[in-house]
Amino acid sequence: MSKENSNKFDVVIVGGGMVGLTMALLLARDLGQDKVFKLALVDGQKKGQKKEQAGGEKDELNTVKKPQATKVNVNSFSPRVSALTLASQALFDSLDLWRDQIAPQACPYEDMYVWDAEGTGNINFSALDIQQLALGHIVENSVIIKALDEALGQQVAIKQFEGVPVSRYQAQRDNHILTLADGTEIHGKLIIAADGANSFIRQAAEFDVKAWSYEHQAIVTTVRTELSHNFTASQCFLTSGPLAFLPLLDGASGREAQFYSSIVWSCESEKAQRLMDMDQATFHVALQEAFESRLGAIQESSKRIAFPLWQRHATSYVKPGLALIGDAAHTVHPLAGQGVNLGLLDAECLCKVIRQALDKGEGFSSEQVLSRYQRQRKGHNLSMMTLMEAFKRGFGSDDLMLRWMRNVGLTFVDKARPIKHQLMKKVMGL
Ligand SMILES: Cc1cc2nc3c(=O)[nH]c(=O)nc-3n(C[C@H](O)[C@H](O)[C@H](O)COP(=O)(O)OP(=O)(O)OC[C@H]3O[C@@H](n4cnc5c(N)ncnc54)[C@H](O)[C@@H]3O)c2cc1C
Repeated sequence: MSKENSNKFDVVIVGGGMVGLTMALLLARDLGQDKVFKLALVDGQKKGQKKEQAGGEKDELNTVKKPQATKVNVNSFSPRVSALTLASQALFDSLDLWRDQIAPQACPYEDMYVWDAEGTGNINFSALDIQQLALGHIVENSVIIKALDEALGQQVAIKQFEGVPVSRYQAQRDNHILTLADGTEIHGKLIIAADGANSFIRQAAEFDVKAWSYEHQAIVTTVRTELSHNFTASQCFLTSGPLAFLPLLDGASGREAQFYSSIVWSCESEKAQRLMDMDQATFHVALQEAFESRLGAIQESSKRIAFPLWQRHATSYVKPGLALIGDAAHTVHPLAGQGVNLGLLDAECLCKVIRQALDKGEGFSSEQVLSRYQRQRKGHNLSMMTLMEAFKRGFGSDDLMLRWMRNVGLTFVDKARPIKHQLMKKVMGL
């Protein structure tokens, strides 16, 4: 086969983050088996780099299939973690990745405690209330990427291009051309852009986007605390922004001795800079005070990383032969840990839409078919983004009236079980 023909595909996925890899695996398993449907995945980074960026240490990454390795200090954990909903867990389970690869390294959280640092309002969500074992799981991103990469490596039905980014995109009637930075041309009837928040494809294809900076940064670090987190995720709303303690699994100790948490501390850029500049001891005191010493003293913390926070939403997710998924389509505030969960649902939905179109003999890359994906996902993503925005604005104000309303509101929702359960189910993706 000539090089030109060998680089012609039915679907090309651009971006091998958690969402792009999941999309690729779904399509390879569902459509690639007959070898007639040709698939490709392009990622600008090499696999090793991707894991480095996701924060994994090499030794740890090599142990995914074994029982969880003992975590000896804060640096044993990848800095980036995700709170996975039960819907995402079900998706990974359907891909045979949950039980053996992800679950052994995932920390279930059975309770979630949310409170207003400036008042008396608080709310407690418990998995028991809705007859579940956990509300969700905290997982290192490197564990998820490793599991997906390994599973995809076993799929013969997909060709992977890695280490060179797409630098040019040309739309043609039934065929789109991607040019990589090394000059390689790749043709696809359908391009799926999963290339993240600053999506090159989204910009090159001139999708309109509503975007604004929160003028907040999220500081991420792993900490060891004096007291066990006891499988509870906690979020404290300070007027400067939300501070989350997400429980991590310490492979060695028992139930009562789980001392590691991943922190996401969102605040205005100026304050974030001050926190980033602090020495370890001063930072530990500031963090302990902000968190009202709920887990005792902060004993150890890993290198802090700051992420600028943006809200972005493409006004349309599709064009003929092109679809945006994951952060390429929408970027949300991390305060309720929804970003990747929404992206995984996008991937699942788009795979179903393509499969149904093929079953009916329709052109799977037509705008009409792809619009079905947009119809099913855009409203859901938008409603979640609106909810996050309401939380962020409601808690970001020190207006007295608003403070009173949010305290009364939190206490009311805590006691109004049907409303509380609906809210829980929405955030858990049920
Ligand atoms: C501090 C913080 C905490 C968060 N916590 C949570 C959480 O608890 N739960 C949750 O659900 N979400 C969370 N999120 C959001 C979540 O991290 C993102 O939604 C998720 O990583 C998006 O995945 P993605 O695959 O769409 O994009 P990305 O992870 O950004 O992947 C994009 C991929 O595209 C590749 N790429 C980019 N450009 C090109 C190009 N030109 N050519 C080829 N390849 C390219 C990149 O190499 C990369 O591999 C958090 C975000 C932040 C900032």
